[in-house]
Amino acid sequence: MNFEFKKILPIPVRTELTPKPEGEEIFKMPTWKCFCCHDTGWVRPHIAKLVIAEYDSNRDRTPVCQGCEQGRQWFHLKGNIDTRLHQITCKELDKWERDNWEETVRTQFEKLLKNKDFVDESVSHIATAKSLRQRARISSEQSYAQYKHDLASRDRYELKVGVCNEEA
Ligand SMILES: [Zn+2]
Repeated sequence: MNFEFKKILPIPVRTELTPKPEGEEIFKMPTWKCFCCHDTGWVRPHIAKLVIAEYDSNRDRTPVCQGCEQGRQWFHLKGNIDTRLHQITCKELDKWERDNWEETVRTQFEKLLKNKDFVDESVSHIATAKSLRQRARISSEQSYAQYKHDLASRDRYELKVGVCNEEA
């Protein structure tokens, strides 16, 4: 039998793990108390790699964070956890991850500003180009246009007069 199930959307518990829509940038520092484990008690794999040689989260025991209170909740999982990271190491990892995030947030913010400048500039170019065609004449332009119109009328008048004189 061929089953075709209609899928519903998942409900994420941890929004920081949900994929971000394209173009959405990071502008805020996360609010974790502990950046070593992101308040989960588990040292994040990319962070664990900094202190455990060739660490592989799929193969190796998960290092428990000792830099905050959260790690304690995993101590009962003996045999699956790695408790060798000292508090000092976790505090250093926390600092490293914080710096990492600050850098990321700063770069993203600078990118946003650059992009915003670009957009502002483009918008103002378009606005100027549009306004050249569409805006009403300002008064000095109006008088100049009137002057040109007057000149043209006078020429026509003089031409007419000239023609008249020749005819006469
Ligand atoms: Zn922690």
